[in-house]
Amino acid sequence: MTAGAAAARRVAEDFAGLYGAVPDGLWAAPGRVNLIGEYTDFNDGFVLPLALPHTAVAAVSRRDDGLLRLHSADQPGGVVVLDAAELAPGQGTGWAAYPAGVVWALREAGYPVGGVDVHLASTVPTGAGLSSSAALEVVTALALDELYGLGLGRPQLARIAQRAENAFVGVPCGVMDQMASACAVEGHALFLDTRDLSYRQVPFDLGAFGLRLLVVDTRVKHALGDGAYAERRAGCEAGARALGVRSLREIPYAQLSSALARLDDDTVRRYVRHVVCDNERVRRTIGLLDAGEVRDVGPLLSEGHASLRDDLRVSCPELDLAVEAANAAGALGARMTGGGFGGSVVVLAEESGPRGADVVAAAVCKAFARAGVGAPGIFEAPPSAGARRL
Ligand code: ADP
Ligand code: MG
Repeated sequence: MTAGAAAARRVAEDFAGLYGAVPDGLWAAPGRVNLIGEYTDFNDGFVLPLALPHTAVAAVSRRDDGLLRLHSADQPGGVVVLDAAELAPGQGTGWAAYPAGVVWALREAGYPVGGVDVHLASTVPTGAGLSSSAALEVVTALALDELYGLGLGRPQLARIAQRAENAFVGVPCGVMDQMASACAVEGHALFLDTRDLSYRQVPFDLGAFGLRLLVVDTRVKHALGDGAYAERRAGCEAGARALGVRSLREIPYAQLSSALARLDDDTVRRYVRHVVCDNERVRRTIGLLDAGEVRDVGPLLSEGHASLRDDLRVSCPELDLAVEAANAAGALGARMTGGGFGGSVVVLAEESGPRGADVVAAAVCKAFARAGVGAPGIFEAPPSAGARRL
């Protein structure tokens, strides 16, 4: 039995121990790492995430009395019991707000969803910028969709999950995380246009090119990040207003210089430059992947990092250290991924040899030790499958 199958069986057994019956079904939804296109999703722009092998697995049964019983193997505090009909945003139910928020968002959208028993466990690192929250939402949404026969498509489920996080949990995230978790396909990256949620699976077969993708979880989270997201978002909106467009997506890369010349606020100018250039980097990355020139993606990752560090200013010393150490050890490229101020770095490296992924990983660990920073978590991120029934 694979480790994944054993973990899933454990979730089903624990469900039975907890609720006294076998679950109606088992579902899994992955975390994600964003290859490129950062802080672009609230600007109607492009992103290119891929699903991680790490998943949230949920055992779920339908209940006909409208009660939600929610339990996580990874959280203390026992079973959380809520009434589906009485859910309201901002109830402060801790982690349970994520699955409860999905029930609330489905009901708000008019879908006839009632009670469920849920027991879940997740291997997605939390708070590392790898979307453990989206994995939780999407696994719940997919289970409810099947158990209540809603017949929703994957993008619709992702929208419901995003609404749960925005309106019920109260986190103003874009839709990338939920789309990646819901729609990703193994061996591919997901090219997503966040303006209309159209997407395309872009082949990203690392093994065929002798490459590996690493994620370095710095295991730090700076408090600065809390207000910074909203500030960057407001700055981008101010930029769009000043340029007379609905969103920064409307500014073509070819018109970047003339757009920048029309802005007199230096901060807004930096934000606009980042967003327009990162959209362009997503386009170029996709062109390279389609052409099989996968190694050439590396420099775009490193350019993207410099832009996030210098223009958007959402990096931090630990992220910069991981990127610099990886590149110095021969990685093809690296950049911070996710919201920044801590969290994770994504690294493209040769599979083996003197510049191989193992050498790069060891160099990053050594650099962290030398700098007196706690050891990072480093794991491989082969492009993995999206949400599914097990
Ligand atoms: P990220 O999505 O980057 O991991 P978030 O802060 O958005 O970070 O989401 C993390 C939160 O999601 C946790 O604080 C917890 O409330 C919830 N969560 C994630 N994984 C689990 C889990 N296995 N069990 C219960 N709650 C979880
Ligand atoms: Mg999250």
